[in-house]
Amino acid sequence: MANEVNPFESLQEQIDDAATYVDVGPDRLERLKHPQRVLETTLAVEMDDGSVELFTAFRSQFNGDRGPYKGGVRYHPQVSREEVTALSGWMVFKCAAVDIPYGGGKGGIKLNPVNYSASELERITRSFATELRPFIGEDRDIPAPDVNTGQREMNWIKDTYETLENTTEPGVVTGKALESGGSEGRVEATGRSVMLVAREAFDYLDRDLSAATVAVQGYGNAGSVAAKLLEDQGANVVAVSDSSGAVCDPDGLDTRAAKDHKIETGSLAGFSGASEELSNRELLTMDVDLLIPAALENAIDGDIARDLQANMVVEAANGPLTPEADDVLGDRDVYVFPDILANAGGVTVSYFEWVQNRQRFSWSLERVNDELETIITSAFDELVERYEATDAPTLRTAMYAVAIERVHRSATEAGFWP
Ligand code: NAD
Repeated sequence: MANEVNPFESLQEQIDDAATYVDVGPDRLERLKHPQRVLETTLAVEMDDGSVELFTAFRSQFNGDRGPYKGGVRYHPQVSREEVTALSGWMVFKCAAVDIPYGGGKGGIKLNPVNYSASELERITRSFATELRPFIGEDRDIPAPDVNTGQREMNWIKDTYETLENTTEPGVVTGKALESGGSEGRVEATGRSVMLVAREAFDYLDRDLSAATVAVQGYGNAGSVAAKLLEDQGANVVAVSDSSGAVCDPDGLDTRAAKDHKIETGSLAGFSGASEELSNRELLTMDVDLLIPAALENAIDGDIARDLQANMVVEAANGPLTPEADDVLGDRDVYVFPDILANAGGVTVSYFEWVQNRQRFSWSLERVNDELETIITSAFDELVERYEATDAPTLRTAMYAVAIERVHRSATEAGFWP
């Protein structure tokens, strides 16, 4: 079962795969396969009915050689130490892949947010922020949104931190609302980088994006924005899914109407603009030109990979392929444009938000999107250059080679500290 694949082991395997293509000794490489520290904490929070409930929460600081730890906070029943650690490691190599000055971190609380009221979620978030306070800060570790968290949660973390520290430090978290020091373009940034990578990929492979069919698994922040922006590029988004199931229309879906339906009803189920309903597996194995997994890790296992019909996958989610799926798709010459590049738009605009917070100066949406495009397309060019210059078997391995070398160089230049 894909869910039994340990994402932390997947990360370590990805680093091992790149070992042959980097000039880094085995001891130094081994260091890059383990987190620097992982905080595990139990939050005791009063519920609306006066009872007290306990929640397990984590923050992993994987590597800080290139700058402050950076990464999202996830609220999900599946959150575990291994998942948070893997996600924090992927952040290290993502920030290095797009060459922004951060290390990698990630956090999470094991809960299903639909089971809690807004005031309970606020108390849970403030309790977590209180535990995080000694470890975070704009020069230490900077949380951001991830699955089931957004501007609201970031505003609560910022407010808790600033109140306890008796300071004003908006750069302590990113992904905030504009009025709380957020950046233009942050909400759309992850989906935008997915679109940019898909656009560059079609161009690189001499294919026509405006004639392409697209299926998107996971219609949340990353997936729905990617779908909309790809539709704006002329692509035909024929199927989308969320945890309630998948909807499809071979003539193309109206991605904005699908999102409105999900906002209104809470899910894609019953969306009247679709002609068919599909299972999640049917969506993943559809005959489309481009598949975008944008839900959770391990969505595509070896079995699904063998049946997958798309010839190109652009990973919006973190770690959506199991290592076996990666091998199968590699053997089948399916182009997989890796998560650490494709979804790096989120952390890149988080970086812009942090820069703006430090400068107390806001950029226009146009500037944010222009600077994002420059960073993503440069990283794409570096990926393709490395892929062609080496015999790296996959685009992922080539991207990891670029990223690992950057992290290693920073560590080496700093010297060794016991
Ligand atoms: P989200 O909570 O907004 O959306 C996740 C979506 O996936 C939801 O619509 C949910 O219903 C759906 N989903 C869950 N399980 C599913 C399943 N089995 N089949 C189909 N759909 C399913 O989360 P998000 O922020 O869009 O994050 C999605 C992925 O993108 C995660 O892997 C996350 O780490 C990654 N990511 C997000 C950002 C960001 O800025 N939001 C940045 C980088 C990477």
